[in-house]
Amino acid sequence: MRVAVLGGAGFVGSHLVDKLLSRGDEVVAVDNFATSGPRNLAHLAGHPRFQFLEWDVCAPIPLTGKFGIVFNMASPASPFDYARLPLETMDVGSLGTRNGLELARRSGAVFLMASTSEIYGDPLVHPQREDYYGNVNTVGARSCYDEAKRFSEALTSTYATVHKTPVRIARIFNTYGPRMREEDGRVIPAFVGQALDGKDFTVFGDGSQTRSFCYVDDLVAGLIALCEKGDSMPVNLGNPNEMTLIELADAVRKVAGRGGKVVSTRPLPQNDPKQRKPDIARAKALLGWEPQISLEEGLLPTIEWYRARRAK
Ligand code: NAD
Ligand code: UDP
Repeated sequence: MRVAVLGGAGFVGSHLVDKLLSRGDEVVAVDNFATSGPRNLAHLAGHPRFQFLEWDVCAPIPLTGKFGIVFNMASPASPFDYARLPLETMDVGSLGTRNGLELARRSGAVFLMASTSEIYGDPLVHPQREDYYGNVNTVGARSCYDEAKRFSEALTSTYATVHKTPVRIARIFNTYGPRMREEDGRVIPAFVGQALDGKDFTVFGDGSQTRSFCYVDDLVAGLIALCEKGDSMPVNLGNPNEMTLIELADAVRKVAGRGGKVVSTRPLPQNDPKQRKPDIARAKALLGWEPQISLEEGLLPTIEWYRARRAK
């Protein structure tokens, strides 16, 4: 199958590209390196079934011919990145999603939208099920991302209604693994960097906020299963193993064999969700999917990857 991965040079996108190539697909990755660089795809130079197009998907995407799937992974994803690139985040969620949908429509492809647990905002329902509409501040610190993703879900759903485009909406919960930039600002690269430096773990607020972390290989398997077996309604993809950030720091310290104590360096940022855990009953029933990799099993290759990069 010929597949396009928009945002294919990023953390999740590049793992998805690897998986698609390993199963025999022909892959075109499109990226403007807004929050990445050529590094994540460097190992694919010269691959006979891989093509890379450096392009901002906010402009119409100059690809022709048939595609089986268009994966739309393009968007800043780290709160640090979208605070730095707020207008670009809103553009890629709106114009970029529209251009991705047009590519899927004219090439006869299934369109998969990488949405997010952030569409639930600071949730008042716990764990989060797909039929919860969320609690988002439209003018808050995270709104450029949350509302861009909410709009992209609406646009994707509207293409299914108006153009009969086959669509999928993945609500992705916190995912980690090798290739996240160490300076990307998200909590796992931050904690792993601090552990390897033997420093204290810096939590925002008192560290009692919760997240549920999914290893990237599990997520990629879920995205592919969603294309193959899903329908047009949103599906949560994440690991329901919920923990506080203090518990996360303990796990990183244990697996890394290093790291200091947990220290609070700043108050909880505005609208930072206090709890987050996916209800994955729908993914289990529809896709037969659930995560297989525990936090300890996923942290091991992640920490090794950062160690190896530092050694280079
Ligand atoms: P990332 O920042 O590593 O990757 C995003 C990629 O999109 C980057 O390579 C970036 O350069 C590219 N991009 C951004 N704007 C673009 C544009 N206008 N044109 C072309 N390319 C552009 O982030 P990630 O963690 O890999 O996230 C991938 C997708 O998954 C994002 O859409 C994100 O919102 C979604 N998601 C990720 C997580 C997670 O925990 N990793 C959670 C929820 C949702
Ligand atoms: N966080 C933290 N220290 C850091 C980075 C993040 O305590 O160095 C917190 C952040 O405030 C949030 C949680 O960790 O409560 C997860 O943050 P991340 O940016 O990874 O993802 P989010 O789920 O907030 O999008």
